[in-house]
Amino acid sequence: MSDKKMLEEEERAIYTGDHCLSCTSCMSNCPVMAATKEYRGPKLVAPAHGRMHFAEDDTELSLDFCSNCKTCDRACPSGVAVSTLNMLQRGEYYRHHPHTQRDDMLAHAEKTAKLVTSLPLGTTFANLGMTIGKAIGMFSSMGIAGEREMPKYASSTFAQEFKKINQPKSDKKVVFYPGCSINYNEPHIGVAFVKVMNKNGYEVLLDEKFNCCGSPLVVTGYLDEAHEHAENNTERILYWKQQGIPVVVCCTSCSLMLRKEYEELFGEAAMKEAGENVYDAFEFLEMLDAEGKFNTNFNAVNERFMYHVPCHLKTQGIGTPAVSIFRHLPGAKVELADAGCCGISGNYGFKKEKYEISMKIGEKLFTRIKAAAPDDVICDCPTCRMQIAHGTPKKPVHPIEVLAKAYK
Ligand code: SF4
Ligand code: SF4
Repeated sequence: MSDKKMLEEEERAIYTGDHCLSCTSCMSNCPVMAATKEYRGPKLVAPAHGRMHFAEDDTELSLDFCSNCKTCDRACPSGVAVSTLNMLQRGEYYRHHPHTQRDDMLAHAEKTAKLVTSLPLGTTFANLGMTIGKAIGMFSSMGIAGEREMPKYASSTFAQEFKKINQPKSDKKVVFYPGCSINYNEPHIGVAFVKVMNKNGYEVLLDEKFNCCGSPLVVTGYLDEAHEHAENNTERILYWKQQGIPVVVCCTSCSLMLRKEYEELFGEAAMKEAGENVYDAFEFLEMLDAEGKFNTNFNAVNERFMYHVPCHLKTQGIGTPAVSIFRHLPGAKVELADAGCCGISGNYGFKKEKYEISMKIGEKLFTRIKAAAPDDVICDCPTCRMQIAHGTPKKPVHPIEVLAKAYK
């Protein structure tokens, strides 16, 4: 038994299964159930199966189809943490069953990226290797969807780019949590974030003791490793909290993990406390705006944007702060795609056997974007952006990039 202080029983997600009313709202809203008959559904798996204590090992194998999109959590009228109960069961399953090499690779993207970026010309050779690997069907033979492009490494990390930025000093500070995607694949988004914060009088700090939020580990069933990440990141967030400095995040899956999923999965009181010091980037800007402290000195933008709101932002229950901030951009029009889950759900849509399901789920969004033909698509989640780029002719950008570019 750990000596860590745990949340009270009534606060813990693990016990919410007892609140299930069998209303089936989670099932009728689950995008995976709508796309395939192979998944027997959240109600059966999480609240029902999770509460039964069988005398013998009895695993509901169709749990493998859950993408952890969290639509069920939002649909549940009784507050059951359906997807978290699913992920706990998946983690338990893999305590006694081996992982595939493919899942090992998808779960440990941070480890691979650290190795690649530590070698001379490592990113060049890794990117070349990915192009060749796709062409000769190597990834496909490992169980990765051959149709997908693996995300390419940037030539330098965000941490390296950050050191080159000459920021004005300020008493107002935030710590930026870049996550793996911004650090290794899209550092320009982090650079855009720093510019936006500087324009608003904030100095941005970077804490290199943070590690991957653990989302790819959780969804792939490496719960114990994810717990180690959660404990490290919680300690870092609390260190900054003690100094009155908030942690701000541009990736909505990372922010959901840091502010909500750690607490739900592992039930530690410190994780709940840490989560209160984590903000989505646009949520933070919206708070400045509410206090009349948001810098609105923008050039005209004059573009029509379509905004795909990531499932993991919706689950945070903070609305669509990017939309309210974009109202300050002269000439910008933002329309919500409002077409449900994009289907990729982190590494889910990269799995060969999930690819068709992922594309079927995304079809409504692809059709919507093609029909609306906006100038640009904006989205705060890296894998949603990959899915939209895969299913439409558009190359979506993070809304923080638009804001950074618009500042005078
Ligand atoms: S997390 Fe998504 S895929 Fe999994 S059960 Fe819930 S709605 Fe369905
Ligand atoms: S939506 Fe909630 S209460 Fe209804 S069946 Fe699903 S878990 Fe149970």
